Amino acid sequence: MHDSYARSFAPRDTAAGDALSAMASELFGDAAADAPSAEPAGPAFALTHRMQGLDGVAAVEAALKLGEPYSVAFIDVRMPPGIDGKETARRIRALDPDINLVIVTGYSDFSPLEISRAAGPADKIFYIAKPFEVEEIVQTATALCHRWAADRELAAAREALAGQVRLLEEQALELSANESRAVHMANHDSLTDAPNRLAFLRALHGSVRSDERFAMTMIDLDRFKLINDSFGHLAGDELIRVVCGKLHAAAPRGSFIARLGGDEFAALFPATGEDEAVMVCERLLKACSETFSVFGHSVQGGASLGVVVIEPGSTNDPIDVMRRADLALNEAKRGGRGLVRVFDESMDESIRFRRQIEGGLSKAIAGGELKLVYQPIVASGAMKVTGFEALLRWHSPDYGMISPAMFIPIAEESNLIHELGDWVLETALDAVKHWPDQYVSVNFSPRQFRRQNFVGRVIERVQRSGVSPTRVQIEITETAIFDDAERAAETLYRLRQMGFRIALDDFGTGYSSLYNIRKFALDCLKIDRSFIDGLGRERESSAIVHSVIHLGRALGMEVVAEGVETEAQVQALRVAGCSHLQGYFLARPMAEEDARDLAGKQFLFDGGADAVQGAATGTEG
Ligand code: C2E
Ligand code: CA
Ligand code: CA
Repeated sequence: MHDSYARSFAPRDTAAGDALSAMASELFGDAAADAPSAEPAGPAFALTHRMQGLDGVAAVEAALKLGEPYSVAFIDVRMPPGIDGKETARRIRALDPDINLVIVTGYSDFSPLEISRAAGPADKIFYIAKPFEVEEIVQTATALCHRWAADRELAAAREALAGQVRLLEEQALELSANESRAVHMANHDSLTDAPNRLAFLRALHGSVRSDERFAMTMIDLDRFKLINDSFGHLAGDELIRVVCGKLHAAAPRGSFIARLGGDEFAALFPATGEDEAVMVCERLLKACSETFSVFGHSVQGGASLGVVVIEPGSTNDPIDVMRRADLALNEAKRGGRGLVRVFDESMDESIRFRRQIEGGLSKAIAGGELKLVYQPIVASGAMKVTGFEALLRWHSPDYGMISPAMFIPIAEESNLIHELGDWVLETALDAVKHWPDQYVSVNFSPRQFRRQNFVGRVIERVQRSGVSPTRVQIEITETAIFDDAERAAETLYRLRQMGFRIALDDFGTGYSSLYNIRKFALDCLKIDRSFIDGLGRERESSAIVHSVIHLGRALGMEVVAEGVETEAQVQALRVAGCSHLQGYFLARPMAEEDARDLAGKQFLFDGGADAVQGAATGTEG
């Protein structure tokens, strides 16, 4: 039997080799056929013969240990006197899950099912009946060797792939760890690991928006520079760390403590009023004022604190809160250090100034100090004037000309804005009556827009004046609509139903996304003049201008470019497809009489579109 195996696998002449390779090619395609023909003497097999089952099992085990496992085992079912073929197959399989087993059997000692059960899987067990043909053995061996080799390659590839996946997973983990580290570093001070200025501003932002009363204190260490200079920076750093720990320990629960930089700390904490805030600050001051031991030196700590108590809803500007705490801190330092000072308005020049402006404004309306000027909005093609934006001017006998950019925000903080707004709307409605068909564009601040019954009030005034709502454009900013988008959408819808035009002013500077504005009933987008200013200079500006124009057109809206100051901008905006222009190059805001003349003439330049040269000559008068 073994001799006939040996003869079957012996190297043969070329003819037999070709026959074999033809067979292989039929089984595995051409690639497999190439391998044997490269070796003209036919396929070479490394053969091991064992007479007994146990010897066979031992040979498989030894080969595995060597790392040169067998691909096929031919097993006779009967091998007296040792274990039989079925048991041999079972033991070999237990050692080597990949080996192909060929059971050679004369008559049915065992059913294939029994053997498969013992030495499965079934796709790795084959049967050859005795007596067998040489070709049958060789063909089976060739086919199984190929398959075995292919399976191993596949397994190796899979293993390598799994390795790569593991590596990627590790890298992803590391990346996200790095990211968390970066976020931590961006928000924390590296010396003390306390939150930094950025994190503090964010927390303060949250506090001013909440409906709880809170205090903010700014803490500055006294004589820190002296300590740094006499004991060195390392000692200075150590003192900062120690003080930071003391502040944390002394602060009430729910406090937020940050290192703003240098020897400056800040804390936010809930407080019922100024008395409690001062008590907390005294405690913080005491915590900083111990004698500390720093690198063997005895160092006397000390600090100055400024504190401000913020009533819910009284401000929404975190920077302003910091400014007030800082003003109070300066007072504390001026007062001789080691002190706590509470902010009061007398410390604040600008607050005093605001109060004066407020007082002046309320007299301005009655005293006739206000007027409106009108700036043309023109169609970019023929330079036809389609409307005028009404802009407020205040000539104060005490302060001279004051810009609306300065006094409107102050009026916004009180009910004055409503009185002012009513006057503006009424005056603008008077003006529009004298124009043939242009609209007047009126600015409304966010607070006006959110006023109780805003729509009703506007409609009432417009109806009383007899002007058609289609000749009134309402200009609002993104801030006005996005704070309460739902209500704003409803307000705009109602105004538009009545025939008013709606323009979104300063577009691009707020936080609305291009996508979101679809929800609102708008006729016009006004691209903020900062982007027009950047045209041709900054890539971002050009990109924003182009996408706003594109979006406006797609949604069927007019797009007005604000602040057009040069001819080059006019050309660039025309090329980009911008429908309307406004700016000093075309016309400055002008007095009512001048606007009336221009409205009658219809066109900005006598020669129409081709005459766009040099700045227009209108003045505010
Ligand atoms: P706004 O609504 O963006 O008005 C456009 C501002 O840009 C006006 O400033 C206008 O004079 C100016 N401007 C126009 N063309 C050019 C240009 O080519 N170059 C430059 N550099 N500036 C140009 P103004 O009149 O000082 O108004 C400032 C802001 O005050 C307005 O900004 C608006 O937000 C507010 N405002 C003005 N009038 C009223 C009003 O009656 N009611 C309300 N609520 N706000 C108003
Ligand atoms: Ca405006
Ligand atoms: Ca604007």
